[in-house]
Amino acid sequence: MEKINMKTPLVEIDGDEMTHILWELVKEKLILPFVDLKTEYYDLSIQNRDRTNDDVTIEAGRAIMRLGVGVKCATITANSARKKEYSLKNTLPSPNATIRSILDGTVFRKPINVKRVKPAIPAWKHPIIIGRHAYGDVYKNAEMTIDTPGKVELVFTGNDGSERRTPVADMKSSGIVQGIHNYDDSIRAFARSCFLYALDERLPMLFAAKDTISQTYDARFREIFADMYETEYKEKFARKNIDYQYALIDDAVARAVKSEGGFLWACKNYDGDVMSDMIAAVSGSLAMMTSTLVSPEGHCEYEAAHGTVQRHYYRYLKGEKPSTNPAALIFAWAGGLEKRAALDGTGRLAEFAQNLRGATLQTIESGFMTGDLAVSAGCVPLNSWEFIDHIAGVLRDGTIFDVK
Ligand code: NAP
Ligand code: MG
Repeated sequence: MEKINMKTPLVEIDGDEMTHILWELVKEKLILPFVDLKTEYYDLSIQNRDRTNDDVTIEAGRAIMRLGVGVKCATITANSARKKEYSLKNTLPSPNATIRSILDGTVFRKPINVKRVKPAIPAWKHPIIIGRHAYGDVYKNAEMTIDTPGKVELVFTGNDGSERRTPVADMKSSGIVQGIHNYDDSIRAFARSCFLYALDERLPMLFAAKDTISQTYDARFREIFADMYETEYKEKFARKNIDYQYALIDDAVARAVKSEGGFLWACKNYDGDVMSDMIAAVSGSLAMMTSTLVSPEGHCEYEAAHGTVQRHYYRYLKGEKPSTNPAALIFAWAGGLEKRAALDGTGRLAEFAQNLRGATLQTIESGFMTGDLAVSAGCVPLNSWEFIDHIAGVLRDGTIFDVK
């Protein structure tokens, strides 16, 4: 079969550990045999980020802004243990936080539902999609340890020389302090991306924060969302028979657990981090969750929501063939190729992206899956290599394998 042509490259961001191994395998078995792949490649392995003093991460983020589409592998966020493990010069910042700051986007996390795997909350009939604000708060914080008693204040010094101060604490003993910020423009861009996503997908939308406690910071989020809904989106939502509601974050958690699913849950940065893992775990596996970062201009980066699956990688290094689920990585590639196809108007590439997703789902539905899913579906687990070979078979000749 003639390979499918690509007009414009997409940004390929490689990463670390087990996901790096799977990245190579997915490309070799599921993409390169079918597509004449064009990418602009960035190596975000922890060693290369350290070598380039993290310049490579910034270049990769800028490349997405230039080419419009990126696909990213999971990467290690270095802490002191990783610094020692990989003999790093520095403790590097989180590459995801760096790229999110460059795109100033919203991350949409959507579970990949399969009929064979029942959610741990039986009432959930439809996926719950998380819209996570991707800028600021604790991910752009300033922190300090305090060793002796003293006063902590927030000080704002305007460029015009004005000054405002607010006491934070009268520290009686040693402790810790933290300063966080956000921008009205970034919150507006976040709200806009969520409203547009809800309209596109015809999903009711919920935004939750803690404005009873944080009466300035979280209240600003609530006000911006309410304002934009009233002035720009209320009628559009009504025409699609959907609505927008604000709730306190604790109330939203209780509502989500009791719901049937099928809504967009807009979350502040940290809440989105935590809630998306909860939703992925309830839906079956951390590995069955896709993550798309969308900038206000519509530039997209596709990735898996899970990390580098370190524990499986250590087993791989010992010579084992672990049963790590590549589904979200495959869906990331499918999402990136599909977006590239939409921007370039290349129909065959769009069709291939759909088939790639279809072949993955069909493989799982016919009883071939990795260990994370196999237990709850009552199937024999395959290792990652066997699982990917099955998908390649379905893609190649449409084979539907017998259920084990
Ligand atoms: P993780 O890689 O998401 O893995 C946590 C556990 O979840 C695994 O040990 C495994 O459980 C299960 N799991 C996750 N993905 C799986 C998959 N595809 N197939 C099967 N099981 C899967 O989280 P972590 O171990 O806390 O983090 C490892 C590294 O990833 C860290 O250095 C962190 O900084 C980084 N990280 C990167 C990203 C990103 O780049 N987007 C996101 C999160 C974390 P079992 O061991 O029980 O099988
Ligand atoms: Mg997380």
